[in-house]
Amino acid sequence: MSNFTETEERQELRRQVSKLAKGYGRDWFVERARSGEKTTELWMEIAKAGYLGVNIPEEYGGGGGGIGDVAAVCEELAAQGCPLLMMVVSPAICGTVIARYGTEEQKQRWLPGICDGTATMAFAITEPDAGTNSHNITTTARRDGDEWVLKGQKIYISGVDEAENVLVVARAEDERTGKLKPCLFVVPTDSAGFEFTAIPMEIVSPEKQFQVFIDDVRLPADALVGDEDGGLVQLFAGLNPERIMAASFSTGLARHALEKASAYAKERTVFKAPIGSHQAIAHPLATAHIENELARLMTQKASALVDAGDDMAAGEAANMAKYAAAEAAVHAVDAAVQTHGGNGITQEYGMAGLLVAARAGRIAPVSREMILNFVAMHSLGLPKSY
Ligand SMILES: Cc1cc2nc3c(=O)[nH]c(=O)nc-3n(C[C@H](O)[C@H](O)[C@H](O)COP(=O)(O)OP(=O)(O)OC[C@H]3O[C@@H](n4cnc5c(N)ncnc54)[C@H](O)[C@@H]3O)c2cc1C
Repeated sequence: MSNFTETEERQELRRQVSKLAKGYGRDWFVERARSGEKTTELWMEIAKAGYLGVNIPEEYGGGGGGIGDVAAVCEELAAQGCPLLMMVVSPAICGTVIARYGTEEQKQRWLPGICDGTATMAFAITEPDAGTNSHNITTTARRDGDEWVLKGQKIYISGVDEAENVLVVARAEDERTGKLKPCLFVVPTDSAGFEFTAIPMEIVSPEKQFQVFIDDVRLPADALVGDEDGGLVQLFAGLNPERIMAASFSTGLARHALEKASAYAKERTVFKAPIGSHQAIAHPLATAHIENELARLMTQKASALVDAGDDMAAGEAANMAKYAAAEAAVHAVDAAVQTHGGNGITQEYGMAGLLVAARAGRIAPVSREMILNFVAMHSLGLPKSY
């Protein structure tokens, strides 16, 4: 039966996460970001409550739920002004890939730490020269006896300083054909030859981005996730969760901005009535709210398709959800800043600090243009443009 509302269980999960996040709040989060501190208490508290790995199978320490559940957690945290970027990466991308394609031993080794928050896993595909064109990545994996030797560079990798391991996408030479094929490796962040430096970013976030240098990092044979020939399939398994989580991050931020702006617009009076009674203020907020609700609906559809095992249909929906959510967040935050007038730019009201975070949703983890390329080609049947 088609259903356009979430289950009572999912709604209860949202309420619980929202309550927990309210105890921390936006001011706490921003203070952490500006002082260079981390949000470890919140991370560990959601882990302890079972929300961090809610999408991971129970036998590996998770909650046995779906991607829609972990997306709901991500959205509710963001809606309270405490977006945790590493949720997109650790339980959703890395957790999904390992739960689906890791060997039994790998699942037992890595998934419990992802769920209980003690072994966060970052994800590294982007490279300085390849950029969006990930077919052009040049990080290579070479066999040396029983070991793998990794060499290359990555850029904009989130949360490397908070992670125990990084799931690195490299290219290994196929022994039969000599061609390079993508392979995924779990690389401990304390490996010899693994270095990282923070990139100064304008986002107000405790989670940082890093440039990563992989200089002949030696790894045991079982650092390679799953099957050597399955790298591409494994990579694709991480894409829908990545997009759904990024969408939820954006819709949560949009909700946060709209709630603040609506409260302000009801209170602030400069002529005879509150500024929210002027349509010039009310309509942009209402428009952004509509856009955001549509994006949330598409995110829930994409999640339901992933959880039903229909990865192909989920691909289209997840891309559309991610696109729509980023647009909604940009419009919501812009309208929220405008609603606040001069206060919109102060640190006290915290609205301008959301601008870059919302804007980043149009760029990462996949850009708006690449989603439009995907939709033009796969949904509309137009010629491939790149
Ligand atoms: C906050 C943040 C966190 C990130 N975290 C991670 C992470 O944890 N792990 C990771 O691996 N990466 C991460 N990234 C990297 C992110 O995925 C890339 O920035 C993104 O994929 C774009 O790549 P690029 O920056 O190299 O841009 P480029 O590839 O240089 O593209 C520049 C512009 O050109 C456009 N463009 C390029 N090709 C085409 C085309 N064919 N048609 C139309 N337009 C095109 C792009 O859409 C973009 O607007 C993060 C980035 C940010 C900003």
